[in-house]
Amino acid sequence: MAAEVRPRLTVLSGPSGVGKSTVVAHMRKVHPEVWLSVSATTRKPRPGERHGVQYFFVSDEEFDKLIANGELLEWAEFAGNRYGTPRHAVHDRLEAGEPVLLEIDLQGARQVKESMQDSQLVFLAPPSWDELVRRLTGRGTESTEVIERRLTVAKVELAAESEFDTTLVNTSVEDVSRELLALMAVSSSDSGE
Ligand code: 5GP
Repeated sequence: MAAEVRPRLTVLSGPSGVGKSTVVAHMRKVHPEVWLSVSATTRKPRPGERHGVQYFFVSDEEFDKLIANGELLEWAEFAGNRYGTPRHAVHDRLEAGEPVLLEIDLQGARQVKESMQDSQLVFLAPPSWDELVRRLTGRGTESTEVIERRLTVAKVELAAESEFDTTLVNTSVEDVSRELLALMAVSSSDSGE
């Protein structure tokens, strides 16, 4: 299956709480060589999150500057905070022939598709709406108000599935990360699974 490996930009998107970051974390544990873009955000760090690891945590002024200097490949406002993909790191990896993975929201996914037509958009869907509500409520790190805002956004995001090249249903983290790797043309033969 490694025969026609083509470095490509893969965008993983889907509603908040569907488990995108869990899938990506699992995939990177099995395949640490897969490069994931680290986004900039104006959101405050959650407990355990570190600058430069999960995100580059920046101020509103710094984010304004990133936009003004054209340093973001895409950016979006999500539930009251801004998030964006640093452009140069992505381009450098693609130039080096490495597959690139972005885990971003729907608005960002649309912008990437617009500016980089040969990117592939992967939609991570929950097994059911009830399961999504359960996961969003169960995280326990957000206020009721934030959860409600995220559920409203999630409804809109679920309706956008048809804009995506592929849908993966998040029934099992292991299965989905294996499927994602296959889509990225990364061989999973040495994954030890
Ligand atoms: P969280 O605050 O839960 O880490 O992320 C909230 C949402 O922002 C998630 O849907 C996540 O995929 C999205 N997100 C993270 N980084 C970026 C980014 O660089 N650009 C865009 N458009 N969305 C992002």
